[in-house]
Order: sequence, then structure tokens, then C-alpha cells
Amino acid sequence: MSKIGVTILASGSNGNCIAVHCGDQAILIDCGISLRMLRCRLKEEGLEESWVKAFLVTHEHNDHVKGLRVASKHFGVPVYATAKCAEKLRNEWSLGVMTMIAACNDFPLSGFNVRAFPVSHDAVDTVGYVFTRESAKIGVATDLGVTTQMTHFQLRDCSTLVLESNFDLNMLAASSRPWNLKSRILSPIGHLSNADTAKFLPSVVTRNTRNVVLAHISGDCNTYDIAERTARGTLHELARDDVFLTYGRRDAPVPTVWC
Ligand SMILES: [Zn+2]
Ligand SMILES: [Zn+2]
Repeated sequence: MSKIGVTILASGSNGNCIAVHCGDQAILIDCGISLRMLRCRLKEEGLEESWVKAFLVTHEHNDHVKGLRVASKHFGVPVYATAKCAEKLRNEWSLGVMTMIAACNDFPLSGFNVRAFPVSHDAVDTVGYVFTRESAKIGVATDLGVTTQMTHFQLRDCSTLVLESNFDLNMLAASSRPWNLKSRILSPIGHLSNADTAKFLPSVVTRNTRNVVLAHISGDCNTYDIAERTARGTLHELARDDVFLTYGRRDAPVPTVWC
């Protein structure tokens, strides 16, 4: 039986792309990096280009879709998006035909059961994704200003959880960013801080949880070390030091996490 893996090819405000894969089938979530970089990073992590079967989109922000049109054309695979997001992608990014999905409706794709679910973020119709296959459950939520009952319900009991840990509150406050940008990030339609993520983890980590991957870590308002230490502290309090904790990077792909 083939192993189920998650590979963070890029994560952060300069580009996001995550591969969920099993055997010779891979689904890519977002494509906020260039085709050239995507091809390099797939190769670096041992993922064949021919394995790519589809792109799923979370929302239309640059850092999630700027490479999508060229990459989907190159691979000749469908792009899945919610109706409102698809409209944006057509109008603003000249994407052609897309497969429309509705939040909270399961659909099969490349051997996975896939479900999009709504999250709170300042784009037209932002979603996270849950993938299930055999005993693996993979949850991905990378851009959300607040956790809700919906995020709790969808992300609970994942074997592998990919969750945003965007900023450190003190670093954001001290940063030179304009006030309107700071308040946008802090708002319920912005991003999750390390503290928000640490607070949320206990409600979704269960005995089935094997991996936690921190995502979308800010380059100037956070460090990999602070984000990791904060989440590790929470897992330690939960007596779950056995959970494998890692983080997505902006500058390099991260070796596959096996679910
Ligand atoms: Zn983003
Ligand atoms: Zn965003």
C-alpha cells in the first residue's frame, strides 16, 4: 500500500503551494510560486511532475494563485475552486475553465475524499481543505483570521494538521508596517498569531494526531523558532511530545511528512 504524504513546497506571504499525495497521484493546493520554482521543488522532494492531477485553490490572493494559470496549463490538469473564487480567478488572473466546488460537500479526487470548508479571511470565499483516505485525515488551513466552530469541527482529529502560525504579536506591534496593515492582520479576517494557534491546538489534537505542520509563518513579524517553540509548548502541555512538529518555509520545500 502506498504511503500518504504531505509536502510543503512553499509557505508564506511570498508564495504557497502544498502537495497532498499517495503513490503516483498528487493534488496541489494553491500555486503562489512560479512554474519554474514549482518544478524545481517537486523534483527536490522526489515528486514526479506526472503525478500532479489537480490544483485546489483556497483563495485568490497573489501568494496563493500567481503561478496557477501557467502551472495548470503546463501540467494540463483541472483547477478546483469555489464559484466566487473561480469568478475572481477568471476576471483577475485570466484562468479558463475551472471545476466548481461547494464548501462542505465531499468529492472524490485521486483516491482521496476531499472537502473544502469556509474560513474567515479577507478574500471573496476563502476555504481550507480536509482530505481523508484510509485512516489518514489531513487538514489544511493556511489563511484565517480566527478559529470558529467550523474550523474546530473540520480540523479536529486530523492525523496531519497543516495550520497557520503567522505572526508573533510583539514582533507585529514593533514592526514598521503601517497601522492599517497591522489591524488587517490582527482582525478576524486576517491571520492567526502563534498564540492563536497554540490556543486552538488543544481543541483539535487527538490521539490520532501524528503531525502538526505550522504554515504561512511571516518573514518579518515572526521567526520559525518562535512559532515552533510556541506550538511545542502547547503539545508538551498536552503530554503530546510524540507529535511530529515542523513548519513550512518560504525559501525551500520541506521534506514530506508521512501521514
Ligand atoms: Zn496567504
Ligand atoms: Zn490570503
